[in-house]
Amino acid sequence: MTQAELEQRLSRKTGRTLHIVLTNNRRHALTYRARSREPDILRLSRFFLRADPAILKALAGFITGHAWAKPVLQAYINRESERLGRQRARRGMPVRTMGNRFDLQAILDDLNRSYFSDSVDVRITWGRHRQVKGKKSVQLGIYAAHERLIRIHPVLDEPGIPLHVIEKVVFHEMLHHVMGGTVSAEGRRCLHSDEFRSLERCFTQYDRAERWLRNNLRKVLG
Ligand SMILES: [Zn+2]
Repeated sequence: MTQAELEQRLSRKTGRTLHIVLTNNRRHALTYRARSREPDILRLSRFFLRADPAILKALAGFITGHAWAKPVLQAYINRESERLGRQRARRGMPVRTMGNRFDLQAILDDLNRSYFSDSVDVRITWGRHRQVKGKKSVQLGIYAAHERLIRIHPVLDEPGIPLHVIEKVVFHEMLHHVMGGTVSAEGRRCLHSDEFRSLERCFTQYDRAERWLRNNLRKVLG
């Protein structure tokens, strides 16, 4: 069913005016906020569009505050998340989001929620360890469009790297996914257009992170 159909059906069942926001977020598959002035906001993982009548009934029950609905929905969310996980594992290389210090999935999810209304559907992984000692520069992040995969250099998982620096790198790669390739006036493929550069500054700690990288990256690379 479409988002509009889901909205209509749930509104009819609950008697509330609902606004549904679809997300690609498996960790927060369902949140509901009743507001004194309707519409209420219901955030749902995209897979709820495939929900059968029993799950729709549970959603309506959840919205109207019935305790029985929660375990039904939790079981459904677990089932769907596992299925998606299996699908993704089949689709591409294994990802490793949990580092020694930072969980990339949590960082991606936070940025996705704060800046992109949960609309960015990409995977993220720590890259494999490579020697960086003595290198003058290193690519801290890279986005592979054909895999929909962001790879972050493991050097950013070392002690002393501030969270906002990783966030800045992840945000940059998310923008590559969102913007796609743009073509410059000269007809060349241009990855970092003026528009890209100005959007990059939407990340609130951009200047701070840039400054840190300028002053510390050499040290990090040894
Ligand atoms: Zn780039």
